[in-house]
Amino acid sequence: MLNRVQHNSLTLKRLQSFEMRLLGLNSLAEMIEFILGQTPALFDLDVVSLCLIDPKNEIADYLDSDNYGFRNREGLFLVNSELQVRNSFVLSSQPFLGSYQTAVCEQFFSESSLQKPASVVIAPLIRRDKYLGSLNLGSYRTDRFIQGMATDFVEHIASVIGICLENNLNVETMRRTSLVDPLTGVNNRRFLEQRIEEELDRSQRDREPLSCLFLDIDFFKRINDGFGHQAGDHVLTLVAGAIKKQLRNNDVMARYGGEEFVALLSQSDQRSAAEIAERIRVSIANLGIEHADQSIPVTISIGAATYQPNRSLKKRVPDIALQLIQAADTALYEAKRNGRNRVEHGGLVLALEPAQA
Ligand code: GH3
Ligand code: MG
Ligand code: MG
Repeated sequence: MLNRVQHNSLTLKRLQSFEMRLLGLNSLAEMIEFILGQTPALFDLDVVSLCLIDPKNEIADYLDSDNYGFRNREGLFLVNSELQVRNSFVLSSQPFLGSYQTAVCEQFFSESSLQKPASVVIAPLIRRDKYLGSLNLGSYRTDRFIQGMATDFVEHIASVIGICLENNLNVETMRRTSLVDPLTGVNNRRFLEQRIEEELDRSQRDREPLSCLFLDIDFFKRINDGFGHQAGDHVLTLVAGAIKKQLRNNDVMARYGGEEFVALLSQSDQRSAAEIAERIRVSIANLGIEHADQSIPVTISIGAATYQPNRSLKKRVPDIALQLIQAADTALYEAKRNGRNRVEHGGLVLALEPAQA
């Protein structure tokens, strides 16, 4: 039988190891899984849930983009207003402790367990005077958490979770904003440059062609000159959205610069690239953009090129990436030269130079 001192020192050790592992996690999804998965054993609990305040749907977006099925994760719930949490603590950082009271506790446990706990601790997660959510611990035993009991362990864990949460959110935001164009909301050139090599690697591995489209709005300068820069921005945003809409979810698309976009179409040969490009061209020509009661006619020219992987790869992937984008850009130049509002395909980019192949 462990005496009290031994028991406390064991608990402290487990708590420290829990915190060390928590601090080492690199993503929001990993952190949530770790907390929901490990806390029950750490504190010998029957029910654990985590409430996160997400007024701008950022957490939901981050988790979605990590393909983490948070909507079905028992024990996790996102709320869109901090009021729900704040009202329960009346601006205090003290956990709620004691027997389960439906009025206070239901919202923190209702979605997370079939059997209601008999006694609970609900610890707010607070960082820089802001509520981030709450960690909710429950036991089926009525005497597990009773009023007046010390809560320092739980408060300590809650403050470490608060720090990790804030940190992971900052990292996700930075990762995202550095790869997204703020005007159009589509990815930027940096993202494309990272992804094109991954896509070429995959194309190589699966022996599937990869096509690249270079898209450029026609006479965009005239749109700016004739309707104003704001109208130009509006056009850019709508065109970006219209291009994206014609692509598959896993296709890469980026604003390459000014009024130029690049798309990478995986498993797409010359013919399918030309078809998709034509579909995009038509959808832009039919957009019927209106700005300040004026209708702005917009068309786009598209150059395409297709990489065909080869059994014996001789070229380096970064060189192929450059060559593929250049080939699509050259085809775009042809499309402009041939009258605009049209698609040109620049042909195949091969893994081997034709002379060596
Ligand atoms: P072309 O058909 O040959 O492509 O002609 P163009 O007028 O589209 O091409 P040009 O490269 O001469 O002009 C591109 C213009 O895009 C010039 C630049 O001022 C404008 N531009 C670049 N970035 C932005 C932006 O973020 N917002 C707005 N409104 N205009 C931009
Ligand atoms: Mg241009
Ligand atoms: Mg242009």
